[in-house]
Amino acid sequence: MQQLLKKYFGYDEFRPQQEEIINHFYEQNDTLVLMPTGGGKSLCFQLPALKFHGLTVVISPLIALMKDQVDALNAAGIPATFLNSSLKVEENRQRIYDLERNKYKLLYVAPERLGSAEFQDWLWQQKISAFAIDEAHCISQWGHDFRPDYQNLSTLRENFPNCPIIALTASATPRVQKDILTTLKLKNPQVFNTSFLRENLNLSVIAKNKMKEQIADILSEKVGESAIIYCFSRKETESLADYLNDEGIKALPYHAGLSPKTREKTQEKFIRDEVPVITATIAFGMGVDKPNIRTVIHTVFPKTVEGYYQEIGRAGRDGLDAECLLFFSEGDRQKHEYFISLNADRDFQDLERQKMLTMLNFCRQRTCRWQQILQYFGEIKNLAESKACGNCDICCQTQATFDATKITQKILSCMIYTGNKFGKNYVLKVLKGSREKNILSFGHDQLSVWGIEKDYSLSELSEIFTQLEIEGLVELTSNEYPIYTITKLGIDFLKQKKTLKLPEISTHKQKNIKKSPKNKTGLNYNKACFEALRILRKQIADEKHVPPFVIFGDNSLQEMAYYLPENAENFAKISGVGQQKLTEYGDLFLNIIEMIKNDENLESKLIPSRHSRRNSNKLSKNSRTRKSNIKSGHYDKTLKLILEKKSLPEISKIIGFQVGTIITHCEKLIANEKLNFQDLEYLKPKKDVFELAKATFIKMDTELLKPVFDACNEKISYDDLKIVRLFL
Ligand code: ADP
Ligand code: ZN
Repeated sequence: MQQLLKKYFGYDEFRPQQEEIINHFYEQNDTLVLMPTGGGKSLCFQLPALKFHGLTVVISPLIALMKDQVDALNAAGIPATFLNSSLKVEENRQRIYDLERNKYKLLYVAPERLGSAEFQDWLWQQKISAFAIDEAHCISQWGHDFRPDYQNLSTLRENFPNCPIIALTASATPRVQKDILTTLKLKNPQVFNTSFLRENLNLSVIAKNKMKEQIADILSEKVGESAIIYCFSRKETESLADYLNDEGIKALPYHAGLSPKTREKTQEKFIRDEVPVITATIAFGMGVDKPNIRTVIHTVFPKTVEGYYQEIGRAGRDGLDAECLLFFSEGDRQKHEYFISLNADRDFQDLERQKMLTMLNFCRQRTCRWQQILQYFGEIKNLAESKACGNCDICCQTQATFDATKITQKILSCMIYTGNKFGKNYVLKVLKGSREKNILSFGHDQLSVWGIEKDYSLSELSEIFTQLEIEGLVELTSNEYPIYTITKLGIDFLKQKKTLKLPEISTHKQKNIKKSPKNKTGLNYNKACFEALRILRKQIADEKHVPPFVIFGDNSLQEMAYYLPENAENFAKISGVGQQKLTEYGDLFLNIIEMIKNDENLESKLIPSRHSRRNSNKLSKNSRTRKSNIKSGHYDKTLKLILEKKSLPEISKIIGFQVGTIITHCEKLIANEKLNFQDLEYLKPKKDVFELAKATFIKMDTELLKPVFDACNEKISYDDLKIVRLFL
């Protein structure tokens, strides 16, 4: 399986659980896989399918996804096809003909087809090895996407007793899980339940203020990267798209009110990297399997945690970092309340409201966002005993704060003085000394709090007020009008003379929400090269009428732009480069890389072994001793001068490269066994320096120079560190 993984998909390692699942299924056992989006479910049936003698039938709900999956398999050199209603009669016939002659390893079909007796009869006559049921939650009425046709699958187990069935879903609820098992009648199924934590997704909740401007700011720093912005209404999707386009950010709206044709086109443009930003209602996303969505934004908090998880889940399927931002305002609760109240069924209303309030609490609470989500799904029982994610706004609160004690006292007092029965703006206007008619009519201009606020503008106060909601000091109480009251926590705050620090308000900061989450997947790749490779990828994809990610994922391009492989052998080491893609695209991509290298005077880097690459900052013993072909020329010169025991500065002077580059030459020469460590012994720094650096590399478990440089108090030069690393 490991060999097939590399040969066809270009990956060297399995993701967590993949291998166990694959082996279990391959050994003819019924299997249920619960794995988050982007976890790598598809491989769990695609790899066994390659080894099974007969055909593996995959049931998949969406025609559009079927085509993308089949395109991706074909691009990897795997014989797969699909049958659905989009095909012309002749094409359909041809495919059946080929299927009957065992030309394919995988067949994708929609559940309605599988339901027909005629089709099952035909299947009976073929050599079928296994069934895979993708998006298996569609079986359950309790899932978020029930499809009656999935009920057709209940006969499979009986009709094909010798074919193992694997069901896969990203839905986490026990109820759905139970429905899948019972409807499919799986035989002694093993359930594989992986964590629903998505480590590469950085989550933040931001107090809503000047949201459009903030969104434009955020996106303008991510030019060309795919983003989905979930809006509350159709109108909002359109006005936000207009606004962004005016700001020079290409965006298209998507909602159920557009014609099917327009929707399809919009989706297509997004998937094909032609439009980076989609402003959408939650109608968008089901058919979008795009792996490189880097940002998901919510302009209103979603109405359930499940919905939120599903929507943010569309980001970062490729495993690279992605950002999920939720703009929060307590007032948005009204919007949900309104729709909930439209439902005639009281019980249903209560249920919906409960779910919405859970989501509201998620936004308010100052607890690690991921811990909250995992707790919601039952994965974490006890918060105190679980680990915080280190990658959400709560975990990396690097935000500047200000002392908000005084202003909070003023706001809360004003609410008490005005009787806890007004909206946010009213309270704030009293503080600002407004003479609006209704304020005068209530006589609130006579209050001692009237006009006492001079430092903050109304919009700044509004932002502070939202923070007080998030802190739980005030809350929205009426369902009909947005009326705010002070909470028990708020009263305690006043009584006990507490202090409060709040995140710096946006107008007082240069960048409001720029945080520094831990960067786990980022390679510091050459941006120009990445762009050039992206253009090439798009050209090839267009020629072949497939989405760009079918050619290579962003992670593959990033690795290419980082390691800058110089030949086919090294190109094949890039993650995502399997045999077929190497043959088909290797030269095209290598040419571009070579060109950029010459233009920018760059050098190829050694591609370390997989183990060290997965943890790209982990120290690996053999990473620098791998063989790679090196060209002669300056390497030969370095070799000669090293053997003459010239010092690094001397060599540098003679051949005109930086000392650091000469050490890189040495690394390559060692890797190619042109030099051995004894030859380099004379370059070693003094013993105490060497030992300190060595100990620090090992202690920090890193291969990166900067952290070690810092940890040694900047006392050891980068060049010395590089030499020590070479010996390690
Ligand atoms: P899911 O169906 O669970 O949402 P996919 O099967 O679409 O996830 O996989 C998500 C992405 O991860 C794909 O781009 C896939 O190629 C990639 N992937 C899957 N398994 C591995 C692996 N072992 N190593 C690297 N990438 C992988
Ligand atoms: Zn966290």
